[in-house]
Amino acid sequence: MSRALENRIALVTGASRGIGRAVALELARNGAHVIALARTQGALEELDDDIRAVGSAATLVPCDLKDFVALDRLGQAVYERWGKLDILVGNAGLLGPVSPLAHIDPPQWDEVMAVNVTANYRLIRSFDALMRASDAGRAVFISSGAGNKANLSPYKGLYATSKAALDAIARTWAAETQTTSNVKVMVINPGYVRTKMRAQLMPGEDPSTVAPPESVAPKIVAMCMPEWTETGRIFDVPSDALHNFRGPA
Ligand code: NAP
Repeated sequence: MSRALENRIALVTGASRGIGRAVALELARNGAHVIALARTQGALEELDDDIRAVGSAATLVPCDLKDFVALDRLGQAVYERWGKLDILVGNAGLLGPVSPLAHIDPPQWDEVMAVNVTANYRLIRSFDALMRASDAGRAVFISSGAGNKANLSPYKGLYATSKAALDAIARTWAAETQTTSNVKVMVINPGYVRTKMRAQLMPGEDPSTVAPPESVAPKIVAMCMPEWTETGRIFDVPSDALHNFRGPA
């Protein structure tokens, strides 16, 4: 295994399970120091053991992404310890209620928008200067094809709305950093992945028919490498194609 990310600092949200955990471990295998954020401390400690086992180190951040002030404090702490952030993987997300828009309770709406949208804006606010301080800042946001095809996704309107907003945030940040920094900002639609969220959406599905998180993690980590050159684009895992925003069907 190459250690191409040795001495690089990577923040992964939603690192306690699913896609985020697999990405955190893959980054560590490539030598990165992983700042692993999620609410479930025990799961983060298990990840820490696995990261040590592959010869890297982690900093655990047991934190609710809705605690926006904590995200500000995290930016300050990363500045004081490293003076830069090389990699940001905005992965954490909530599916929210699968129900008609009119049946969604306002607190459910607010929670999904807080985690899927506002937290990513707050991370950008906290880490923009630190990403620009890196010689090759790389951000990858985990979105969903649902954001692009809300007309085909009845009952997932809250989730689709949040992912469309996330796409807009990423597209904006990509444009803002394109000519003034070495930062590249990508979005990935991971396709169907065998996680707790997938089981929540499709409780009757045989999990063995769905791709494991480990299959998508290397595609995300490839976008975290200093030699990655694209910015402001969506990578669609089901088709393995790169699209401009609003591109994939
Ligand atoms: P998952 O297994 O449910 O994992 C979600 C992660 O987000 C967990 O680590 C969870 O950690 C974290 N999280 C949730 N709320 C949080 C909060 N308030 N504060 C901090 N962390 C929080 O889901 P997944 O399938 O891996 O999803 C990862 C990303 O992929 C999501 O953005 C999702 O929309 C996207 N995606 C997934 C699929 C799929 O088929 N699985 C398809 C398309 C897109 P804690 O509970 O420990 O806080």
